[in-house]
Formats: sequence, structure tokens, C-alpha cells
Amino acid sequence: MDIFGENVFNDTVMKARLPKAAYKSLRKTIEEGLPLDPGIADVVANAMKDWAIEKGATHFTHWFQPLTGITAEKHDSFISPTSDGRVVMEFSGKELIQGEPDASSFPSGGIRATFEARGYTAWDCTSPAFLKEDGGGLTLCIPTAFCSYTGEALDKKTPLLRSMQALSKQALRILKLFGNTTSTQVTSTVGAEQEYFLVDKNFFDKRLDLVLTGRTLFGAMAPKGQELEDHYFGSLKTRVAAFMREVNVELWKLGVLSKTQHNEVAPGQFEIAPLFTTTNIATDHNQIIMDTMKKIALKHDLVCLLHEKPFAGVNGSGKHNNWSMSTNDGSNLLDPGKNPHENYQFLTFVSAVIKAVDDYAELLRLSAAIPGNDHRLGANEAPPAIISIFLGDQLTDIFNQLQNGGLKRSLQGDKLLSGVETLPSFRKDSTDRNRTSPFAFTGNKFEFRMVASSQSISGPNVVLNLIVAEVLSQFADRLEKASDFNAELKQILRETATNHKRILFDGNGYSDEWVEEAKRRGLPNITSTVDASLILKRQSTIDLYEKHKVLNKTEIESRFEINMEQYIKQINIEALTMIDMAKHQIIPAGVKYSTQLANSINAIKSASAAADVSVQESLLNNVSSTLASFQAKLNVLEKRTQEAADKTEEAYEQAAFYRDVVFKAMNDLRQDGDLLETMIDGDLWPMPTYSQMLFML
Ligand code: ADP
Ligand code: MG
Repeated sequence: MDIFGENVFNDTVMKARLPKAAYKSLRKTIEEGLPLDPGIADVVANAMKDWAIEKGATHFTHWFQPLTGITAEKHDSFISPTSDGRVVMEFSGKELIQGEPDASSFPSGGIRATFEARGYTAWDCTSPAFLKEDGGGLTLCIPTAFCSYTGEALDKKTPLLRSMQALSKQALRILKLFGNTTSTQVTSTVGAEQEYFLVDKNFFDKRLDLVLTGRTLFGAMAPKGQELEDHYFGSLKTRVAAFMREVNVELWKLGVLSKTQHNEVAPGQFEIAPLFTTTNIATDHNQIIMDTMKKIALKHDLVCLLHEKPFAGVNGSGKHNNWSMSTNDGSNLLDPGKNPHENYQFLTFVSAVIKAVDDYAELLRLSAAIPGNDHRLGANEAPPAIISIFLGDQLTDIFNQLQNGGLKRSLQGDKLLSGVETLPSFRKDSTDRNRTSPFAFTGNKFEFRMVASSQSISGPNVVLNLIVAEVLSQFADRLEKASDFNAELKQILRETATNHKRILFDGNGYSDEWVEEAKRRGLPNITSTVDASLILKRQSTIDLYEKHKVLNKTEIESRFEINMEQYIKQINIEALTMIDMAKHQIIPAGVKYSTQLANSINAIKSASAAADVSVQESLLNNVSSTLASFQAKLNVLEKRTQEAADKTEEAYEQAAFYRDVVFKAMNDLRQDGDLLETMIDGDLWPMPTYSQMLFML
């Protein structure tokens, strides 16, 4: 309790340090989305500076989220020279609300040429400023949005804030129709569960692939994987517990509501989850969580891997994005209450989400598309690339009733029967869980499980906010015009239940049958980032984003370009890293080992002509022939990678070539590389193995 939020310029600090009028005005902006009064900037800046300096800060930075998906910061000290050769500590209102970093070295997707370097950061007062500790110093971090000289969003925050505005506007229209006159803002809320791996730093440093790409590009499977199911929720190892403890303390200081921690399914894999909060803050906090974990891990001689698929053969990592909508007076619009069949407002909002997810499944799929996630989605791993919704027994029953034209009941959870007298008896939830669903209703929120472990959660939430806003606007258009509100509402609910039945699925989402079934239902199954991105080219996508003022055409085009660019660069780096490891580590190890074998054969034979050297001979033959095959595949990969890099066609063709040709050549090479690993003397193998990395923590 004492440390929570101590490094945050939060409401308590603001209330204590700001003049009443300035505080009130700022609260209005934060709570009701009213425009920021520039007149208060100087006062707030001064209070912020005093607070930060008292805590020991020397620098401030506009902290922003460029389209790299991670955060950026450029530090300036508070010092300002005086005429007598000394300094004073200064921080003006202008420095608080506006910054101008050189924008030329951030991805812009062609929005601007590099010589037009100007970009602006603008203070986002809806997310609190905080102090970041690093290397013994403290820096005041001011969350900001980042846009180009011409006003286009060059970051992940601006569209998120715009999408929250759009959702609020449309949700309020619906609430008003239900007679709500008190709520003035609706915000989406998010709790993001974060999965990650930890590896010993000594192993990490010896793996060029982990260092350069975040995932292993070679590596034979360890004799043990996750099949014993002994890691999930297992007792924490002391070293891991110490890491988690320090992460929690740092996060609590930063006002992050770090709550849950546990071992995940794969060996060496873990999860952290904070309590939910406003989407904008949850997005900032998720960045802080990722950053903090990486830094604290190093202090424990560990490395935190956020890649979606660091190790083949065991589970990859994702984020579960729990999402709901809440009014500023605190009511959760996705809370069904005791009797959801009588709660028409709830049914309206849930129906809107269902329709939105079905109508815009491809956009939602795209929102989780980054190269690393291609290893999970649609690659026989959780979750599938097909979007479907799990509603659970209670809501499924209600939607069936809706289709049939009436609502009569809500199923309630029975008593839990354990068969043991001494155990407490209690009422179960009205619905079981389904772990395989990419989009599941979990009591009073939806859980979107496709999100990639390393990506910013901004994109997925922009899409959720936007598509739900769109459907709410369609509902509101009809309801506002209706002469009989109740009749029109029932009609809308029945239509939604009937027309969007196909998106509901409560079976096993990992099964091959589901892939077939989904195809019959006409649900899209897009397995790669490259193809998922094509939806950004559609006019209907541009219309949707422009209608709700979330992104304009230029901004959408730039996102497409960036997706292609990032895909191309990522696969290219991975291919080059493989080539490097193959040439400088694996082939030399293979040659060394075969020479050892040959020497052994010669030595033994010359000592005793009758001695049996069949083991050495068979090993030598196997190693030599695998080495030759490995070299041939390496030649292919080198050639293909060069061809890919030389391509001058459209970005899409080049990216598709990397996916179809280079990526395939990489997998071919890996097969032989992993085979060599199983043959060669362990002492000669030039890098840590899966057994070491996954099990020796
Ligand atoms: P799981 O059972 O899926 O592992 P966890 O308890 O680890 O669930 O995480 C659930 C997450 O959902 C938490 O971050 C929690 O705060 C969040 N959550 C709960 N209610 C809401 C809500 N109304 N809106 C958004 N997120 C919510
Ligand atoms: Mg979950």
C-alpha cells in the first residue's frame, strides 16, 4: 500500500499539488473527454516538475509509441542556465504539452520522406505521467501521442484515443435510448494477460538467433517437452519467484495493478496479468510491463523473451486481451446481471459485439497479425486463425431463444457437487470455460486470445472499439428512427441472433474438423500476416475507418506499407542469421566431429587391424552425408534470400516471396541442422540446447 503509485503523478498528487481550478479543468478532460485547456499547461508543468525533482528526477521525456510497436523516449534535463553561470530547474507548459522529436527514423509507411523530418508529440493527459528508474537515475515520462507535421498519426496511441472517442459516442447514443441521462462517457476497459519465457542469460548470449531475432532458428527438441503437464501452475522456482517479486514491486511503484502470476504451459514459460483499467492506460501499462520485465530479468541473470514462438515444439506466447465497456459512472455494459434474458441493454451491447466480430472478422484477425504470430495462428497452435465466438451455455441458450422469437429464461449455475461432505458447497458459474476459443465471453467481458505476446495491444483494441462503435451506430440509427422502440429492438436482437449464428462455436477450436466446419460456414481462415494485411486495401475498410475518424486513407495505406516492410525485414534478418549460424557454427562443428571420427578410425585401425570401428564408420557416414545435405540447403537459402532482397516488385509480392520461398528454405535448412545436433558430440555442439534453455533456470 505504501509503495503503490509512488512513482506516478496520479490523481492524489494532482489534487494535492494543483490549484483547484486547474485540477478541476484537468479532471473534466480526463473524465468527460472535454478539450484540454491550454491555459493550465504552465501550472501543471510546474507542479509536475516540483514533484519529479523532489523524488530525485533530473530529466523528462515525452514517452510515445511509434509504429515499431514499442516505446520511444528522448531525454532532456530540467536544467536551464542562469546569467551567473549556474543552473535552475525549469519545465514549461509548452514543454509539457508539445515536443518535436526528429521523426525521420521511425516507420511512417511512406507518409513522409526522410528529409521531412518533423514530427510532434502531444501530451496525453488521460494517461498519468510517471517516473522511470534506470541506471540509478529517474526520468519523468510524459505519455504522448505522436503525429507528423501534416497531422497524420505516426503512432499507436492516436488511433487508440480516436477509437475510444468513437466508441463512447455511439455507446452513449444507445444508452440514451435506454433512458440513461447520467453517463457522459463510455470507455472500453482492458486487462491484458501477458505470456513470456525466461532463459538463463548465459545460454541466451550464446544463441545468436535469440539475440538477433528473439526466437530459436535451430534447435532439436529436448527429450522432454510439455507433455507431462507439470509446468502449468507448478510451484515457482525460487529464482523465478525472485524475478517476479521484483517485477511486481517496480510495477506497483508505477501504478500498474499487477495481480496474477503463474507458470504457463511450456517449460520456461510464465504469465503476468494486471487488473483491468481504461484501454488507453492498459495499453501504456502493457508497454511498461514488457519493458520492466526485460530490465528486471537481466538483474537476475535471466532474459525475458517476448517473442510469440521462441521454441519450436512447445507452446508459444500470446496475450489475452480482456475487453469490455464501462460508463464513467462505473457500470459495466457487458455485465449480464442475474437474469440476462430480462436485461435488454446488456443483450443489445452483446449483440453488437457478436455482429461486429462476425462482420469484421478479417480486421480483427489482422489486428493480431505480426510475423512472429504467424507461427501460432493457423500453425496447429493455439488459437486457430479462424475467428469464432464462445458464448457459454447461458448466453448460447438466450441467443437460441432470441432466434425463436422470445425470451423466457436464463440458465443458472447448479450447485457444485464434489461428493465430499467436508468441502464447501457453492453455486457454479453459469458457464464453463473454453480454452480453444479465440474470442470468448467470460462472465462480464470478452477475451480476445489471438493477440501476439510482443505486440502493442493498441491495434487489437483500436479494431474492437471501432467495429463495435460501427455496429452500435447501425443499431442507434434504426432505434432512433423507430416509432416503437421495443418492437424495433426485439427485431434487431432477433436478426443478429439469426444472421450471426455462424460465428458462434463452442467446440474444440484446435481440431481439424473445425477448420472444415468453419469453411462450410464461410468463416475466413487467414494464416499469414502478409495476406491478412490485404484487407487494408479494401475500400470498405477505408470507409469504416474514415466514418469514425479513426484513421484516414493515407494513414491506412501507411499501415499496409509498414506491415509489408516489417515482414520483409524480419524474415530477411532471420534468414541471414540462419546463414551466419550455419556457416560459422554448425558446419565447423560438423567438420570437427567428422575429423575426430576419421582420426579415431585411423588411430584404432593402425593400433589393431582387427578392431571393430563400425560405430565410428557409421557415424562418420551419417554425419558427412547430413553435412553435405545441410550445405546444399544452405546454398539454396542463400540464393533465395538474395533473390528476395533483389526483388523490385510491389511490397506485397516481395513479402509473399519471403513467406513462400525464403521461409520454406529456412525450414528445410533447419531440419538438417537439427538432425546434425542429434548426431554430433555434445561437447562440440556450438550452442546451448533446448534441454538447457527450457529446463535449466
Ligand atoms: P484467465 O482466467 O483468463 O487466465 P485472469 O484472471 O488471468 O483470467 O485475467 C483476467 C483479466 O480480465 C484480468 O486482467 C482482469 O482484470 C480482466 N477483467 C476483468 N473484468 C474486466 C472488464 N470488465 N474489462 C476488461 N477486463 C476485465
Ligand atoms: Mg485468459
